[in-house]
Amino acid sequence: MTSPRFATLAVRGSYDHEEAISHHGSLSEPAYLTTAQHFDSAEAMRATAAGEREGWVYARRGNPTTGHLEATLAALEGYQTGAEVTAAVTTTGMAAISLATSAFLGVAAGAEPNIVASPACYGSTVMVFDRRYGDERGVSVRWVDDPYSVESWERVIDRNTRFLFAESPSNPMVQLVDIPALAALAREAGIPLIVDATLATPALLRPLALGADIVVHSLTKAAGASGRSMGGAVIARRGLRFRGQPAEMTEDFARYLRLGPMRDMGSVLSPFHAWTLLADIRELRTRVDTMSSGALRVAEHLAGRDDVAEVFYPGLPGHRTHHLAQRDMWLVDSGGPGRDPVNRFGFLLGFRPAGGVAAAHRALDRLRLVWRANNLGQVKSTATIPAIGTHLQVGADSPVPADMIRLSVGVEDAGDIIDDLDQALTGGDGPVRRPAGRAQ
Ligand code: PLP
Repeated sequence: MTSPRFATLAVRGSYDHEEAISHHGSLSEPAYLTTAQHFDSAEAMRATAAGEREGWVYARRGNPTTGHLEATLAALEGYQTGAEVTAAVTTTGMAAISLATSAFLGVAAGAEPNIVASPACYGSTVMVFDRRYGDERGVSVRWVDDPYSVESWERVIDRNTRFLFAESPSNPMVQLVDIPALAALAREAGIPLIVDATLATPALLRPLALGADIVVHSLTKAAGASGRSMGGAVIARRGLRFRGQPAEMTEDFARYLRLGPMRDMGSVLSPFHAWTLLADIRELRTRVDTMSSGALRVAEHLAGRDDVAEVFYPGLPGHRTHHLAQRDMWLVDSGGPGRDPVNRFGFLLGFRPAGGVAAAHRALDRLRLVWRANNLGQVKSTATIPAIGTHLQVGADSPVPADMIRLSVGVEDAGDIIDDLDQALTGGDGPVRRPAGRAQ
């Protein structure tokens, strides 16, 4: 068989015919709901625990079902990178971010560490860096002034910088960073570039292929779109080397996390949740394609309404990082002989109803189809006001406008989502104001 394409890798995962036959022919990976393994001898137990023999020991250091999820994610994120890629799955996206970043704050790498990050990050990431690392551990946190200007990053990197961190696209302003340019800066400084690509998913953007070293995901979002499980992942190229960091840590970073920090600190994903996430990931490409096509339609519609002051969507030409999205966000495998590749810009958008905070609250209250909820990437469309939800904890420092509604477009018919937004914006009484000539 030639190398399978992305959609095939997602469906097939790492569970093959042979393994199925040894599990009564089960077409689906079994959910190994067990906390520990039995060994046929003391020596087998010793060798497996010592890592000299492949196998599973105790669920806090991994389980066959979490192993299947890790192998699938590594194959998808590593797709077309030509690199060997491994993954570790965690309880939540925040656990993945904390594990991936705290590993680089060890004292052996020197005194007075600092980290350099884009301030356009999800609220809890800002809290981990500012409160947990800054206030509690004395790490200097350097938020770059303008994450979309490479010079802004370059200015604040020095010999004590431990890593660069960015979300691309960011939650909720959906702005991208120039990953290849930041990867070059990180390489020059001998430090990792860590990218949270939750909002893109590997179906649209694979940072490792663009030069990043480590990718983190919240699987609670589009990867686990049915909304049944939380989860996170750290995915990295093998054979990484960084200034001041031990090669044992970076040679296989995911394995290091799994058998070191994750085992010790206990942030492993439960096999049951790994099993539900595996089921969701099978249709990732098709689902993200549908959601992204719907989101573009909704964004274009909102941009044409005179009662919407501003729309944030990287697929719109006026968006600050549209040029980066056009360059880097492609539906995987959409190009081929006789077919041009297709840009897809993701399922998340933001908009500010004209009339300020009160108008935004009113529109959110009036939604009848879209759910008022603080999650995104789900098959069900959800909306929130980040200033009172996902980014509330960041407070006055948040760059997110207080009157911005964040909308995550699901797989419902986009026409129905548009109708719901129209009635919410107009109050549901009176005609829907649609600019003349707009396609619906
Ligand atoms: N990264 C991004 C971009 C997110 O939007 C979120 C949550 O909204 C997280 C990380 C954290 O994920 P989790 O809630 O699974 O911890």
